[in-house]
Parts: sequence; C-alpha cells; structure tokens
Amino acid sequence: MEPRKERTLDPEDWGAAIELGHRMVDDMMMLQRNIRGRPVFKTFEDACESFKEKAPRRPLGLEGAYRDFNEILLANFTAPINHPRFWGWVAGTPSPSGMLYDMLTGALNQSTEFPIDPTTYIERQTINWIKEVLGYPMGASGLYVGGASTASLIGLTVARNTMAGYDIRKKGVMKPGMTIYCSSEVHMAMQKAAELLGIGDENLRRVPVDGEFRMRTEALQKMINEDRENGKEPFCVVGTAGTVNTGAFDDLETLAEICEKEKLWFHVDGAFGIWTRLAPRLLHLTKGVERADSLAFDLHKWIGLTYDIGCVLVRDETNHLRAFAVTPDYLKVAGAKGSGVQDYGIDLSRRFRALKVWMAFKEHGTDAFGEIVQQNVDQAQYLKGIVEKAPELELLAPVPLNIVCFRYRLPGLSEEQLNGLNNMILLGLYMDGTAMPSSTTVGGKFAIRFCTVNHRTRFGDIDFFVEEVKRLGQAMLNEDTVKDYMKRYNRFIERISS
Ligand SMILES: *Cc1c(COP(=O)(O)O)cnc(C)c1O
Repeated sequence: MEPRKERTLDPEDWGAAIELGHRMVDDMMMLQRNIRGRPVFKTFEDACESFKEKAPRRPLGLEGAYRDFNEILLANFTAPINHPRFWGWVAGTPSPSGMLYDMLTGALNQSTEFPIDPTTYIERQTINWIKEVLGYPMGASGLYVGGASTASLIGLTVARNTMAGYDIRKKGVMKPGMTIYCSSEVHMAMQKAAELLGIGDENLRRVPVDGEFRMRTEALQKMINEDRENGKEPFCVVGTAGTVNTGAFDDLETLAEICEKEKLWFHVDGAFGIWTRLAPRLLHLTKGVERADSLAFDLHKWIGLTYDIGCVLVRDETNHLRAFAVTPDYLKVAGAKGSGVQDYGIDLSRRFRALKVWMAFKEHGTDAFGEIVQQNVDQAQYLKGIVEKAPELELLAPVPLNIVCFRYRLPGLSEEQLNGLNNMILLGLYMDGTAMPSSTTVGGKFAIRFCTVNHRTRFGDIDFFVEEVKRLGQAMLNEDTVKDYMKRYNRFIERISS
C-alpha cells in the first residue's frame, strides 16, 4: 500500500525555522533601537510594481518570504510611527516589547471567548486594573475591541437600547427622532456610530464650541429643550475628553449634571485624553468622567501598545448584557458561570488583546504611563512657548494638552498664500524625512498640527523641528525649490495611484 501523503504547515526543518525566527527578533529589535537614524518618512515608488504581483502558487519558504519583507517593505518603509519625530494624527509609538507581546499572543493564539479559558480571566483582570487606575466604578463591565471607534459604537448601542423604551433588539429601530448631542469637534467615529445604529447623522446634533473648542453647555441645554418641544427624543450626550483637532476637553462635570437632570445617557470618548487620569497634575481635565454611563478609549495611542486595542467600559453591566447577550446552544459551556465575550460586543473570535495590557502593566508599572503622558504634555507646552515667542510662527489654537496647531507666517502674504506656503512646509518635512506632524484647518487656516503621544520624543527633537519649519518656510519662497519638491512628490503620487 502507498503511504498516505499528509500535508501540514509545520516547517520541514524546525531547526532552520527557529534560527530564522531568532534572526527576525534580532533584526526587529535592532530596527527599533536604530529608528532615530532612519528618515521618518520615505516615498515607496520602487515597491509599486511588486504590489501588482499575482498570488504565489508555489512556496518561497519562510526565508524567501522574509527576504521579500526586507526588500519590498522594509527597504521602502520607515516604520514612521516608531520614530521619535512622528507627531501625526494621534498614533501611539509602541515600546519595543510591544512586538514581543504580539509574538506571545500569536504563539498562544487563543480566541478569548469562553468562561473556562484562562485568557478570559486575564481580560477581566486587566479591565479591572484599568477601571482602578482611571478611577471608574469597579462594577462596570468592559471589553477590548479594535479601537475607540468600535468602543464608541458599542457604548452608543447600549445607550440606544437602554434608552429606547421598547425592545429595540426585537422590533428594530422605530423611532426616527432619537437624538444624540456632541460638540462640533467630535471625532467622525460618532457619525459612523449614529449612522450604523439607525439614529442618522442628522440626529447627531453638533453643539457649537467656545474659544477653547469645548462644547458650549448652555447651547447644549437650549438645543435639548428646543428639540423636545419639536417632538424629538434626546437620549444621549457624548462628551469628548481630548478632541482630535486640538486636544480640548469638554466640561464633563457639567455634562454629567445635564444628563442626570434631563435623564440622558452620558457617553465619553476619551480615545487618548482619558490617560491624563494617570498624571496627577492633569486630573482636573477629566473631572466628572467617573459619572459617565459608558466610556470609550484606546490603548494603542497613549499607553504604547501595538495596534490594535481599544476598550469600552459600561457602568451598569446589566444594560451592557441586555444590549448584546446572545448565547446559542453551541456556545454553552457546561457548568461555567459568567458570560462569554459575545455577550458584551460584536466579535466572537478575536485575538487575545488583554495579554499585551497584562505584560505592559507588569513590565513598566502604571506610573510610567502617567509620567510619559505628563512629559508629552510638557513637550507640547514647550513647543507652544517657542511658537509664541517666534515672530515668524503663529499659534492657531489653544494648547490644553499635547496638540499644537501653528503655522509659519510672513508679513505681506495673503491667507491663501500662507495656506499654500504651510502646505509646502509640511510636504518638505515629509520629503526630507525630518519630522512627521499632520495638518488640519483651524478657522479656515491651514495648520501644521503637532500631536505627541510619543515616548521617544526628546525636547531636542522639538528644537530641531522648529528650525526645520523655519528653514523650509524660507526655502519654499523660492519657486524653483517648490517646483523641485512638487515634481518629486507628484512622481510618487502618480506611481502609487497608477
Ligand atoms: C483616534 C480617535 C478615535 C478613534 O479611535 P480608533 O482607535 O482610531 O478607532 C475616536 N476619538 C478620538 C478623540 C480619537 O482621537
């Protein structure tokens, strides 16, 4: 009889695979160690052809696949978020151990679902740790998800279902007037959530902000009253702890009071700003957050964990379970008490995200994160001070936290010319690979937006950045220089779009 041919994905040569694994760990630790010496951004037109290659039918082997990783990806990519001068959007710089935690997570490859699985208890323990350090009620339930967007979607689902006043899970959305309030500075994740939940973008009411970009609470009260008179059904207020544009904090205490008086659900989006709770000098910013009915935030922004991990906490577990619990027969586990993860959210199979929280909290201790939050805030205030003193720089928004919106300016230039010039400065920083802030518009003005949640940034990096902005501000007055940068940039954009 012919011996049976059996297929497996295990390596033929375990020794060689282990050796290559060691090399990968060495290489990737060195990448992190030497990241400062790399450009923070690089165009990757040379890799474009390879993105069109067809699916490989024949094996390259792990060695071959890793060679491609190096030649196609790493040679053309700088791991910018790891760089000490990455200050774009709100993207957290992970600690080098982050990739090691991911390796451990991958090795266990446990889908944290069941009450008879130890990973479930690590998830509960770390969520308890988070409630403890944030000073949020210990009775709250919580769940790890991919990010603060999903976390808010879950929080707002619990809000909608709890406040609907009928069995919305059975009947579906029947009330067209259910209304949510948030500030005009709210993250677009709230719009997505309102749309997905059948609330509708029109019923996500944007309350105007004051000069500090905080929700105007008297305007909120007025809108609630008017909407009620017009037959709408206000049910929820979303407060933001740290807006994405400028780092503004809504007055959570007053919002909590309004919600209590008006019997509304109080949801807080604290994606990155919630972690100011770990910095004693910043505690005043989030006063009142402990009164939130639900709270959404990330651990991949300011806690230095690798993508992706967000978390939602719901003050009253009963409401949380009522919104999501479904335990079909095939998920019942004999004798086990407590709910599986499917009872708290959308996902069933999922990665063991809690492990990296468990490891990071143990490795660094939670005080370290508060110190880094404070350091980043001090760095932003330092930049603000420099901008205020430099006649050729202009601050475009208050700096309550870690975000500085500013621009380069020269007398005699129109607003339009200033917008163009600052756009070119940003492009120059990217193309030179020296620093990577992002941009936004503040009152119609193009702003260079510096946002740090980066533990690698040193004060000296900020000095260097300011000098580069000034240098480029001068250089971009020369038409030939602008043409040269644009030519190189457009060639890149053409290649990646074709
Ligand atoms: C980043 C961010 C979000 C969205 O979080 P994701 O993790 O990207 O889903 C929501 N709100 C604020 C204020 C943010 O900064």
